[in-house]
Amino acid sequence: MSMSLIPEVKSIDFDDLEKGYLRAYPQNYFSPYGSTEEMRTTLLEVNKQKTSCKLKEDPSLEFLLEAHLNQKTQVWEIFQYNLRTRRQKNLHPIAYLKPQCKGTWALWSSSCEHCDNNYHFNCTDSATQQEMREQLMLIESNVQDLSDSIMYTLNIIVPSVDEENKKKTWCPRKYPHANDYNSDNFLIKDFEKRKSPRAAVEEDSLSLTTVSPQWDEGLQSFCIDFGGRIQRNSKRNFQIQRSDDAQSNVLCQFGKKDQGLYILDYKSPLSLIQALGVALVSLQWE
Ligand SMILES: [Zn+2]
Repeated sequence: MSMSLIPEVKSIDFDDLEKGYLRAYPQNYFSPYGSTEEMRTTLLEVNKQKTSCKLKEDPSLEFLLEAHLNQKTQVWEIFQYNLRTRRQKNLHPIAYLKPQCKGTWALWSSSCEHCDNNYHFNCTDSATQQEMREQLMLIESNVQDLSDSIMYTLNIIVPSVDEENKKKTWCPRKYPHANDYNSDNFLIKDFEKRKSPRAAVEEDSLSLTTVSPQWDEGLQSFCIDFGGRIQRNSKRNFQIQRSDDAQSNVLCQFGKKDQGLYILDYKSPLSLIQALGVALVSLQWE
C-alpha cells in the first residue's frame, strides 16, 4: 500500500463497517451522550463466571459492545460487537479497563482524539504505552461495612465536557508539564492523593460518586429508586451523580434485572465506553 495520511486504525475493520456488521465508528462510543434529562438505556448480558459480557441497546436489543476479561493480565478488553465474526480474536480492543493499585481501575482508549488528529500515532515516547492511549476514566471502588451487610461505593474521575457536550481529551501530549508520565502514573497518583498538582488536568476533570441509598422504613433496608427499571436487590446496583451535586441527579445507573442480566443507563458527561467501564468494575465485587 502506498503512503497514506489517514491514521492507521487498528481497532476497526472498515469492510465490516461498510457492510453493516459493525454499527458505528468507535468514536461514537467515546462521545458523551446527550445532556438532556433522558438517559440512554442499555442491557448488559454477563456470563456466569463474570468474565465476558455483551452490551445491547434497550429495548431494540441491537448489539453495541462486548468485553472479555483477560485472565492472565486481569485487564478487561472492550470490543465493538461484530455481527460477522461474533468473536473478536483478530481485532484490537477499542478500549481497556486496567486494574491499577488495589481497588483502582483506569479506562484507556486504544486511540487518541488529540494525537490521531495531529498525526501522532502514539501518546508518549514510551514503547510500553502503545496500546493504551487517551485515558478515559479513573475508578476507585471502596467497601463500607454496614451493621448487617456491606455496601460498595465508587469514586470516579472523568474528563469534563465543554458547552458543546464535547469531552476534553486526557492525553499526556496536552499536558506538557506532566513529565513523569508513564503507563500507570499519569493522573493515578494524583487520584490517590485526592488532588492534582497539575492544574490543567484538574481543570479538565469532573468528579463523580455513587448516590447514597435511602433508608426505607417499610422495607427496613437501604434502597435505590430505579424508577421501575429494575425490581431486584443486588450489591451491584448503583447510581452515579456528580460529587458536587446536592440534588443527586442520576447520570448513570446499573442494576440487576435478572440472572446474568443488568440494566445500564447513562447520559452526559458519560459515554457508552465509560458507563461500561463502571459496570465492569462492579462485576468484580465479591
Ligand atoms: Zn494522545
